[in-house]
Amino acid sequence: MDSIPAHVPVRSKVKVTAIPGDGIGPEVMQATQQVLAAAGAQVEWEEALAGAEAFRKGIAAGAPQETLDSIARNGVALKGPLETPVGYGEKSANVTLRKVFEMYGNVRPVRELPGIRTPFSGRGIDFVVVRENVEDVYAGIEHMQTPGVAQCLKIITEAGCERIVRLAAAVAEAEGRKKVTVSTKANIMKLTEGMLKRVGEQVLKDYPSLTHEHMIVDNCAHQMVIRPEQFDVTVMTNMNGDILSDLAAGLVGGLGVAPSANLGDEAAMFEAVHGSAPQIAGKGIANPTALLLSSLMMLRHIGDFATARRIEHALYVTLEEGKDLTGDIARDGEGVPTAAFVDRIIANLGRESLNVPDREYRPIALKKWPQITWYRAASTRELVGVDVFVESERDPRAISITLQAAAEGSAFDLTMIGSRGAQVWPDVGGHTFLVDHFRARFMFREPPKGNGIAEITDLLQRIGRQHNWMHIEKLQRFDGADAYSKA
Ligand code: NAP
Repeated sequence: MDSIPAHVPVRSKVKVTAIPGDGIGPEVMQATQQVLAAAGAQVEWEEALAGAEAFRKGIAAGAPQETLDSIARNGVALKGPLETPVGYGEKSANVTLRKVFEMYGNVRPVRELPGIRTPFSGRGIDFVVVRENVEDVYAGIEHMQTPGVAQCLKIITEAGCERIVRLAAAVAEAEGRKKVTVSTKANIMKLTEGMLKRVGEQVLKDYPSLTHEHMIVDNCAHQMVIRPEQFDVTVMTNMNGDILSDLAAGLVGGLGVAPSANLGDEAAMFEAVHGSAPQIAGKGIANPTALLLSSLMMLRHIGDFATARRIEHALYVTLEEGKDLTGDIARDGEGVPTAAFVDRIIANLGRESLNVPDREYRPIALKKWPQITWYRAASTRELVGVDVFVESERDPRAISITLQAAAEGSAFDLTMIGSRGAQVWPDVGGHTFLVDHFRARFMFREPPKGNGIAEITDLLQRIGRQHNWMHIEKLQRFDGADAYSKA
């Protein structure tokens, strides 16, 4: 082991909002703050509330205004886990914080840790998952279509894809990485997932030093397990990234040691991936590694690379030597309290691990996105039809007869009826299971003279006399290309 010179503070303290959170949150927060203080990190903490206590006080968003103000003022937060109410009305405080500050990028390093044995130890796993953090099905726009059929909208924007791909490229450049893998389900969801693929292909041309590849996300899950060392930086839409980043964390020791950053234009929030672990809360045995590693991402974010490196090596030496580890990672199963683990890390400050290759970190060059509504013009737009979603217990043939009758004298022809994406009329000989939810596709016989609204309203009135319809989708063509999926 070599020794690292103590960090020489070069500037004044940076104010950071500290949200201890719920369950084991206050314990791991205190442990992290202790290590940072001992290492001489130039941080001044401003403690703020969020999570269960906020909900108990009747704050429906899970975070009071003072907390939001503190993050807005400081622009940087370190956050403990927050309990999420499951299955009842209140929002997730985590989602509130990410959305209020539009922290669109979730960055999750996946790096083999010395002394943490997993089935993948020794493979040299070292990559970063960049997950889009605010769009996709996590927009939370859900509707019951019929009493037995639910729908959730998957919203993907070109702007959202561009900024997350550029963030992935910036992370790659900041860490001296060489490859960005855009991972999507574009083969099935050609418009939504396909948008990330297309934008990735376009945007990554601006980064000639980076190799770009596309990988279908299910294969990506497989490849992460089969050959995880091939990855460098991966970028995904929200739900795919949510699932695969947890899978990736499992490769290198699990959620208890997985750090993350939530990055946006106005604020950055660093947090452990794990939750509040209520079963072990208050016992003084929680492992603070994940929050400590998150705080190192935070130190690098505020430019204190030297302190981050010093703490990282002290942690690695501690893990390598295997003395005084918490129960979840202790090799002999005999864990020590959080406080003893922290003392050991502090005692190891200044020692250097030779087993972990040093990475040259530079600041992540985050582009600021303009505060305007993003608008992409199309040179031509055509309205060619409308999908009407109807509720019916009848069979597709019977529905087609009533819908064709409804369309008679309107501006439309009924061309197709689908059930959950599969065409069921005209009959194509499939064996589709039927529920009470159908998509009826009506195409304009001739292009509408005006905006088509009068024709659509007329059609809906006709359909409404016989069927309960839930919603409609206009079928459009932008720049001459169909802007809707086929059955
Ligand atoms: P969890 O809190 O991550 O805990 C699952 C288990 O993992 C714990 O019971 C514990 O296992 C182990 N564990 C997690 N972190 C640990 C640590 N630092 N040290 C030692 N062991 C650790 O997941 P959960 O039980 O599903 O979620 C609990 C609550 O946290 C929920 O309300 C959930 O919504 C919330 N949550 C919040 C966040 C966040 O704020 N970002 C993230 C995830 C979950 P053993 O019991 O085997 O020791």
